[in-house]
Amino acid sequence: MKKAVLIFYDARMLGHEPSGWDTQHPEWSDAVKAMIAHQYPEASLETYAYPERPERLTAIVERLKAEPVDGQGWRVPMPVTHAQLQRVHSVEYLAYIESLVGASGWLAQDTTAVSPESVVAARLAAGAGISAIEAIASGEGRHTFCIVRPPGHHASTDDARGFCLYNNIAVAAMHAREVLGFRRVMIWDWDMHHGNGTQDIFYDRPDVLVVDSHCEAPFYPGTGKLTETGTGAGVGYHLNVPFPRGSGNAALLDVLEQVVRPAARAFRPELILISAGFDCHYLDQTCAMDETGFAALTQHMCALAQEVCDDRLVVMLEGGYNAQALSDSAHATVRALAGETITDINVLPVDEGRAAVAEAARFHADTIAALGRPSAPPDRTSGSR
Ligand SMILES: [Zn+2]
Repeated sequence: MKKAVLIFYDARMLGHEPSGWDTQHPEWSDAVKAMIAHQYPEASLETYAYPERPERLTAIVERLKAEPVDGQGWRVPMPVTHAQLQRVHSVEYLAYIESLVGASGWLAQDTTAVSPESVVAARLAAGAGISAIEAIASGEGRHTFCIVRPPGHHASTDDARGFCLYNNIAVAAMHAREVLGFRRVMIWDWDMHHGNGTQDIFYDRPDVLVVDSHCEAPFYPGTGKLTETGTGAGVGYHLNVPFPRGSGNAALLDVLEQVVRPAARAFRPELILISAGFDCHYLDQTCAMDETGFAALTQHMCALAQEVCDDRLVVMLEGGYNAQALSDSAHATVRALAGETITDINVLPVDEGRAAVAEAARFHADTIAALGRPSAPPDRTSGSR
């Protein structure tokens, strides 16, 4: 059955274009040199270009325009407001980011820089998830796809990291909780990197369940161990699934079947959000998924959303740095969101990620079972939907 897919995108997000290198700014040069030496030991200043570049989005958008998916509809997101950001980020941090409007500079040694239009782009990226959830809540659609940059999942309450300024998915989840009255929200972050920012923001909350599957430490950002399961009231509401480099489609499908699905059935979210990075694609050269895997994950998540949360599903772009991989994976994802059935999934002869995922599933089994206890999680805020 064909379904409508609402796609949230604004070309102003292409205006975020840090060069990462400027001979007029020797202080940046030192920062960039240090970052390249740390993050890209095989690269050099001559070959380095800021990897989080506008072509990431144009590759996806041009593909969806050249080969439109039956049911896709384009929407322009509203820019995020200060009040919406304040549910996630500190006042001091927001003032700092706002001070960068019109400026160029290097924010974090590990990767993050801005150009004059970056904050405008970031406001739209952070607003896209809210616009998607508003569309879902109003009944305009059920399946939504946010094509955004800068990405968000490395940004914490008061820190920019990993190309991220505002934590887009966290801002969306908090809007769903505090304005639209969704009592329980679930996030699956399937980006190759651990979403350290999302973890920090929700670590003490039982109303936002986060499953994060990622390449294991010491791979960037070096967090996301199995034992990081939350703090205070949030203990048991953060499920990390680390796996080795080289993991492929079968390992990620195991994450879905052994962790995400049972957790969702126990937790009973009223909305599911996906931090969808496509950097586990083999063309990004660290893991070994391909677009058939992303299509299958999406197909299963559609079925899960239909089962547990009246089909309310937001897919939001995070990382992925190869234009071909992004184009193929995003197109496959939108086709799956539109109801296309995927039958041919490529699997490796041996997928070494599967053993790590099985170990994580065993580790989390009791925690997942406890998600179904009637006491969890409380309805913390009021609101109408
Ligand atoms: Zn990533």
